[in-house]
Order: sequence, then structure tokens, then C-alpha cells
Amino acid sequence: RWELDWLENRARLSPNKKAIIDEDTNKSWTYREINKRSSSVASWLKAQGVNKGDRVALLSPNDISYFDLLFACGKIGAIVVPLNWRLSVHELNEILQDCTPLLIGIHQQFQNMYTPLEQTISKSFMVGGLEYEEIVNTPIEYKHSQVLSEHDPLAMIYTGGTTGKPKGVVLSHQSIQWNAINTILSWNLSEDDVTINYMPMFHTGGLNALSLPLLMIGGTVVIGDQYTGQKVVNSINRYKCTIILLVPTMYHSLIQSDEFQESEFPSMKIFLSGAAPCPLQVYDAFQKKGLAFKEGYGLTEAGPNNFFIHHEDAQVKHGSVGKPMLFNAIKLAKEDGQDAKENEVGELLIKGKHSFSHYWNNELATMETKKGGWVHTGDLAKMDEDGFYYIVGRKKDMIITGGENVYPLEIEHWLAAHPMVDEVAVIGLPDEKWGELVAAFIVPKHFYTIEAEELSEYCEKKLGRYKIPKRFICLKELPKTVVGKIDKKKLKEISIHT
Ligand code: ATP
Repeated sequence: RWELDWLENRARLSPNKKAIIDEDTNKSWTYREINKRSSSVASWLKAQGVNKGDRVALLSPNDISYFDLLFACGKIGAIVVPLNWRLSVHELNEILQDCTPLLIGIHQQFQNMYTPLEQTISKSFMVGGLEYEEIVNTPIEYKHSQVLSEHDPLAMIYTGGTTGKPKGVVLSHQSIQWNAINTILSWNLSEDDVTINYMPMFHTGGLNALSLPLLMIGGTVVIGDQYTGQKVVNSINRYKCTIILLVPTMYHSLIQSDEFQESEFPSMKIFLSGAAPCPLQVYDAFQKKGLAFKEGYGLTEAGPNNFFIHHEDAQVKHGSVGKPMLFNAIKLAKEDGQDAKENEVGELLIKGKHSFSHYWNNELATMETKKGGWVHTGDLAKMDEDGFYYIVGRKKDMIITGGENVYPLEIEHWLAAHPMVDEVAVIGLPDEKWGELVAAFIVPKHFYTIEAEELSEYCEKKLGRYKIPKRFICLKELPKTVVGKIDKKKLKEISIHT
């Protein structure tokens, strides 16, 4: 199936265009070169005995090898499984036992992982060194001999594990392509666009959200690693980036850096945030500088891109993720199964060619999540009278206190606007009287101490009584998951000891 191998066609369309640049070394590769690399890797994988449906795992920092292996697996019908290198050896072994790859590529930076992981997987190869360069530079034209369908799996990405154990999300050629098509059309991407990717490439945000769509349209992706607020500003200016996607924790540090305050970002068209709720202060910081800022919403299982908002609308509809993208159906379902009306909260359901095939080895979870053909996101959202959607929070995080539903995000947004609050997270804690009580974890800005009473009075100005946290717990920092999301499971544990 030639049409599945769009890189081949892109390499014909824009052979000499810079496709990928490595920020650290400043090395760059054209479309012709990345296609050649992946053809060579595809032939090598075949020679190693990798066949259609086999898994090839990769443990690497952000690096060109992600693209080499993804495109190579695409050519031969194998499934690439990028692994989260921030996980412990125990967790990685669990994932490897789950996905049973035939081969694992381990980057030379992670050589110390060979031995502990080789207990689970016998065949490995080193990525990033001379040997790997030999593989990718072997001059081989890959001949398509494999019969593939758009429904065949191309990648398996493990979820962030924010609410439980990471689940292996199987993404077909179709789902990856249609996410890219949706994204290109909605975000109006063109071959003149340049991004720098600091999001981890083992995560859907780093691989699928912007990098692959931009490669499909012929733009340029700079591979960044080891994010700092200072580095991102320098690199945006150095590579004349036009678009960037970061997670809220990255924006949190970016807007506090001197470099951000001093730069005017003349090349940038849009700053995007995704993967977790973005504090409204980030919007304000960009608005003050006259820079376009938007929030996207997605999950490994659908998209990850699902909504689009025009810049002008984003100025008025603060906090909205926008309207559904072109090839995407969205529904909000209430507890009783009825569709939510305007401004009513319901679970966000998604349907489209960009949604996942199934969870690996987990038929039950697949059946539950894809009930009736809709991806049940587990997130709550509402739509306003003009058709704009707002993410209200995770269903699992909703607090029921004294019979009232409380959405932590509403309280988090209000507390984050307090001049002495740096970061905040709100969760429900078990309580005999109320069922659950609202608890707020606060990180005060440098050197401040804030009294619970003061915060409580501040909340009274905006929030109904039942929403006002009954416990305020001050911390030096909030625990984060490996992909930089606030770890609410850890906060529950912390609350027991404070
Ligand atoms: P797990 O499924 O293992 O618990 P996870 O939900 O973090 O982990 P991902 O697929 O990485 O797995 O993340 C998707 C989730 O991120 C969404 O379901 C949603 O809860 C959250 N999210 C993404 N974008 C936004 C956003 N703009 N606002 C609020 N939440 C968001």
C-alpha cells in the first residue's frame, strides 16, 4: 500500500527541504534523507526477522531515531513502541512484558539500561552510535512487498498513567494520518512552518500532536531536549519557529523567565498548550505581550488533536479549547445517558478516523472506552451558547461533597489568580460528614506564607460555600507525573501525612 507511506511521496515532493534539525548538534536532514534512513532501517529490521505485526520498542531521549523507526515500521507493517525513559526499571519491564517486542533499540545515553532490561527482552540494538549510523546510511531502496491496510497498527503509545497504570494505546496508520490531516487543515499548517519539539517523543504530545502533521505538510521540526525556559526562547529565535506546543508546566516556567519578558518572538504565529489544564495566568502573560496563545485538548486514544479555536475567539472565550476539528464528531453525555444541553456538563465522547484501534492486551478496557463506537474520554466538558467547548476536568477528579458536584478546575483557576499563589491543585478527600471534602494544595510564590483563613476569605468572593476548600495544605512544590502533569494520586497520599 504505497499511499500509506506518505513520507515516500513527501520526499518526492520536497526532496531538498529541511525536514528535521537536531537542536543539540545542529545537524539537519532533508526529506529525501529521512526517507532514505527509514528505508535502510526497514530493510535492516526485516533482516533481523521483524515482520508485520511485530513490535519494535525504542528507549531514547528526543532524537531522530523516533522518526527513523516509526517510518521504518510503517514500511514493513511493524509496530513501534516508544518507551518512557523516566519510568523505573520495574515499570519498564512491566511494559515490555506487556508488549513483548521482538527488538528493542536503546540509545547510547541509556546504556546502563541494557542489563536490567535484557532480562525481559533478549534482542537489542544500540541507537545513536556509529553502528546505528551504519544501519541508517546503508544505501537501500526499500521495495514495498508487504500488504498493508490503513487499519494495521503503526504505533503503540503508553498513556501518561495519570489515573492508573499506563495502557498501551494501539494507533493504526489511519488514526495517525487522520490526526495529521485534521491538524494541518484546522491549524492551517504549511511547509513554511517550523516548530521546536520539547515534548517527550514517547508521548502522543511529542510525536503526534505537531511533529508528524508538520512533517506530512513539508514543514520543519527541530528536535529539542532538556527543556528550560531560557533555551526555548533562544531556540525559537534561532530557528525562526512559527508554532510551538508545550505543556502548562513548561509555560509556567517560560513566562517567569527574563528571556520571555525580553523577547518579542517576531517569527512566532502561535503558542499552543495541551496535555493538562492551563492556568489562566499563562493566557494573560501572552495577551500582555500581544502574542497569540491557544489551548488544545487531546488524549492518546483520540487524536491527540480534537478542537480548534481562532485567535480572535481565544481572546474572548478564555479557557475554551474551541470547536471540533473538521473530521471529528463530539458528543457530551450526561450520567443518565442523555446528551448534555448548552452549558450543561457531560462526559466528552469522540468519534473519528483519528481515534485509536484498541488497548493492547486489554479487551475489557477497549470495550468500555469504545462503547457504541465513541471514545469515552473520562473527561468532563461543556459547550456554551456559541458552540465553544470548555474542559471542566476529569470525571475521576470530580468531587461530590454533601451531594453537590464540584469541579476542581474551577477552584484551581480562581486560586491560581491569587497574587501570592504560584501553583495550586484541588482534590477531594474522604470525609465522614460530607462524603468528600474539598482540599487545596498551594505552592506560595517565593518567600510568602499564606494563612488558610485568608485563602478561604478570598474564595468566598467568587465561589459558592460548598466549593470553598475545607483544607488548605501548603507545599514547596506539587508532585508531577513523568510527563509533567500534576500527580493527584500522590497528593492524596501526602494529605494522609499532613
Ligand atoms: P492515563 O490515561 O494513563 O491516566 P493520561 O490521561 O494523562 O494518563 P494522556 O493520554 O497522556 O493520558 O492524557 C490525556 C488526558 O490529558 C485527557 O484525558 C485529559 O484529562 C488531559 N488533558 C489534555 N489536554 C487537556 C486540556 N487542555 N485541559 C485539561 N485536560 C487536558
